[in-house]
Amino acid sequence: MVKAKKSFGQNFLKDKNIINKIVSSIGFTEKDLVIEIGPGKGALTKVLKENNARVLAFEIDERMHEYLDKLEDDKINVVYEDILKINLTNVLSKYKYDKLYVIANLPYYITTPIIEKLIFLDINIDQMTVMVQNEVADRFCAKPGTSSYGMMTVLLNYKYDLSKLFVVSKYCFDPVPKVESAVVNFKIKDRNQYINVNVDNLKKVTSLAFSHKRKTLKNNLGNDNFAIIQSILLDHGFDNNVRAEQIPLNVYIEISNKLYN
Ligand code: SAM
Repeated sequence: MVKAKKSFGQNFLKDKNIINKIVSSIGFTEKDLVIEIGPGKGALTKVLKENNARVLAFEIDERMHEYLDKLEDDKINVVYEDILKINLTNVLSKYKYDKLYVIANLPYYITTPIIEKLIFLDINIDQMTVMVQNEVADRFCAKPGTSSYGMMTVLLNYKYDLSKLFVVSKYCFDPVPKVESAVVNFKIKDRNQYINVNVDNLKKVTSLAFSHKRKTLKNNLGNDNFAIIQSILLDHGFDNNVRAEQIPLNVYIEISNKLYN
């Protein structure tokens, strides 16, 4: 019996209903490939297998061989590597698939770096359904003008349509974590919706805009930059006191194009 390791963010899902809801949130076929991050004892992997999914899983903890070896076959493949260190593009080049999906109950200590890696690599994940901390789910799905809205919200929404599917009680896990969780679905946007911006420039501008939470956009961007984009802000009804968290994605795209192109 393997004991949960806190340092690997191990909180194993034990609620069958939640597991089924996560797996059925994506309509994969046998021609698609589902990446699972952190299969652990195989709670999700087992149901993915029952649903005929082709799975490529990445697990950092070699002790999980005890549970995962019996699930592996020609469609279920577990790679014992750190998802943040592995060259995902190289691994994926060995697979043929129609669509690429991600299903995961993520290790919470590295949620953001994992999501950033998956989203900004050029591997075109069609849909992801991931379990994250409830508070992080709110940040990902936040609307402009709310306190949860931040740089990460803008960058994720640039490429994906996000929806918080449901909240998960901490008692659905073993061991019981400190906080509630939530399941979030990411669906890739139509390419025409986001092709008109260089993402590195969007990162640059949002990182500046959100650099000091209490300051206005003008203070964060600096007077010179602000003067260049003031007409855009006026066109969208924002004055000199506007703050980063009030500005929607489409306006950030305009600002980014004006400042850096
Ligand atoms: N999927 C299982 C479940 O739902 O019961 C386990 C989820 S548990 C929250 C997170 C899993 O991610 C653990 O199995 C942990 O060992 C694994 N993990 C942690 N850090 C990782 C990393 N850097 N790369 C790959 N897997 C990691």
